[in-house]
Amino acid sequence: MLTLECPYCGVKAEETELQPGGEAHLKRYGPGSTDEEFDGYMFSRKNPKGVHFERWRHAYGCGKWFLAARCTATLEVFGTYPAQTSEPPAELQAKIKAKRPNWEGYK
Ligand SMILES: [Zn+2]
Repeated sequence: MLTLECPYCGVKAEETELQPGGEAHLKRYGPGSTDEEFDGYMFSRKNPKGVHFERWRHAYGCGKWFLAARCTATLEVFGTYPAQTSEPPAELQAKIKAKRPNWEGYK
């Protein structure tokens, strides 16, 4: 079972206490964007086998949204961090790179 530590309240929450929110760090496009940009934002999602950044909500806890980095193949969790970030923290990226030398880095 997937277990993620909520970065706000510090609880190690099991998957049943959490609500998934899809891919993290989506760049939003609105009025004035091209059809291709909006289409990409609305419908295109990464689906990697390996390191992935996701949104989760501590639904049966503090209720806050946070972000998690985990491996989709092994369910290894690299870390969690607050949702108010535009990209994964540098120290988390370094930790992932140390564990997965072939990881291409956050794009
Ligand atoms: Zn929480």
